[in-house]
Amino acid sequence: MSNQELLAKIGQTSDETEFYTPMPTGYRKGHVKYVVVVGTVMSGLGKGIFSSSLAKLLQDKGLKVAPIKMEGYLNIDSGTLNPYRHGEVFVLDDGMETDMDLGTYERLLDQDLSAANFTTNGQIMSSVLRKEREGSYLGRDVQFIPHVTGEVKLKLRELAAKSNADVVFVEVGGTVGDYENTAYLEACRQLAYEEGENSVVFVALTYILEPGALGEQKSKAAQLGIKRLMEMGIMPDLIACRAAHPVKDSVREKISMYTNVPMKRVVTMHDVESIYTIPENLREVGLDREVLTLLSLHDRVNQRAEDQARMKWRWFVDRIGKAKKDVTVAVTGKYATLRDAYASIIKACEHCGVHLGVNVNIKWVDTTAIDPSSVTRHLRDVQGIIVPGGFGVRGTEGKIECIRYARENKVPYLGLCLGFQMAVIEFARNVAGLREANSSEFDPRCKQCVIDILPEQKLIEGLGGNMRLGGKDVEIKPDTLASKLFDGASQIRLRFRHRYEVDPKFIPILQEHGMIFSGKHPNQPIMQILELPADMHPYFIGTQAHPELTSRPLRPQPMFLGLIKAAMARAEAKTAQQAQAV
Ligand code: GLN
Repeated sequence: MSNQELLAKIGQTSDETEFYTPMPTGYRKGHVKYVVVVGTVMSGLGKGIFSSSLAKLLQDKGLKVAPIKMEGYLNIDSGTLNPYRHGEVFVLDDGMETDMDLGTYERLLDQDLSAANFTTNGQIMSSVLRKEREGSYLGRDVQFIPHVTGEVKLKLRELAAKSNADVVFVEVGGTVGDYENTAYLEACRQLAYEEGENSVVFVALTYILEPGALGEQKSKAAQLGIKRLMEMGIMPDLIACRAAHPVKDSVREKISMYTNVPMKRVVTMHDVESIYTIPENLREVGLDREVLTLLSLHDRVNQRAEDQARMKWRWFVDRIGKAKKDVTVAVTGKYATLRDAYASIIKACEHCGVHLGVNVNIKWVDTTAIDPSSVTRHLRDVQGIIVPGGFGVRGTEGKIECIRYARENKVPYLGLCLGFQMAVIEFARNVAGLREANSSEFDPRCKQCVIDILPEQKLIEGLGGNMRLGGKDVEIKPDTLASKLFDGASQIRLRFRHRYEVDPKFIPILQEHGMIFSGKHPNQPIMQILELPADMHPYFIGTQAHPELTSRPLRPQPMFLGLIKAAMARAEAKTAQQAQAV
């Protein structure tokens, strides 16, 4: 490739320029607008929830939105991160392993996202280094500015071009002042300059302290955080104040006066019971209107679409917390102390609870403490059992005990990924007479490895990037529980993240004893859903997939819906029994 061709490829005409701004093909400057959300004072303010709620408000108005989360860490994706430290790994349909915030975006926007909606410093750096080796920088020294920042801008514009969005929502991970996000912030500053007026809005999410000893709201930390942002050349257009209680006008005034942001653009975003009320709260303080004004987007609004979307959403929000009935579902897992590791499962149960008018209480069960003598004590007061995904041998025998309990006592059961594999092992051992059954993940020398490594994965070694990942089609067997749950569909799509699977040579013996494989890969012998027939159990189902990842507030996932319905039936039957006994 000639120098001239290379320059054209990276969007330049001369290698003397200080501007390094590669542009993706099909990019429509001026059509796409950006909302950049940054956090100050501290992390954990719910930037993802805020950003997705604001995005939802614009989406409701008929605008096309595309969110992106930019992570500060150097990992290429979230796949190797410990869920204990970082929360669950959220898998997208294209197999990208991301931060749990992407789950919040998918749920609130009811939109499937892809690798284009997620980046890390690791991804940015690795593209820069790859381009350097390919000679793309034409003899220049490769620098943070303009090359790394150029790569960040490219990523944002690629998303804009690919999604054809009206508004790209950029969530900058971490807090202003972190070394890790400096390049992101600088890139966004440049982006605002290059895109021109009315194209980029900066929202600072900050925190108002309210020390118990003082009993009043203090704005100093918020002021300093925003000042730090201004030192980087970024003037916020909007400031959202997180706080335990509604932020007082006098505090908002102080922030307004120190930042030159008018009062109507300094809004309160105090703690609420349910995150699903946040979109409406932001609407009430006029944030959506201000964003439309700042980005000159009023003429793209579809009022009818907004009225309909709000009506549907209100139906859901109005039902939250109103249920009179209760069920308790046990969730087993070794990270039972850290709820973020199971965020999507909690959400999926919540969606079903709202739709079915029941409070779903979750009882966390640490299976390392469970053995045949203690299992009843842990599970006798629950109406449903979920064994979620997991890796490693710790607690697995306890999980198998829980599944045996569910099967024998006809307690509704849902197995997710590892919970599917454990159900196969339990059934093989206790029903099909394969006493030595196990998974080669837990016992590499086991004699009856009913769960074994995938044939196509056997050759791949190392921990990163060797799992079967992402959305896959599942063929559903007619006249089964699965077929009923999915309204008779012959093919559905679920998301996967696993290395091991059912060894096909054990399928006949498992089937002979009653286990039904009601969901399979359309043309490979990969078992993806199992169940027990109605004469053996009222609701016993498992899947090699992670159905919790695709449950949405207005479209609860059918396997969870089935579990909660079955749990309600069990609770009702028990109440009727007790009434009769009296
Ligand atoms: N450890 C199992 C596997 O790798 C299950 C994975 C999971 O539950 N996500 O197949």
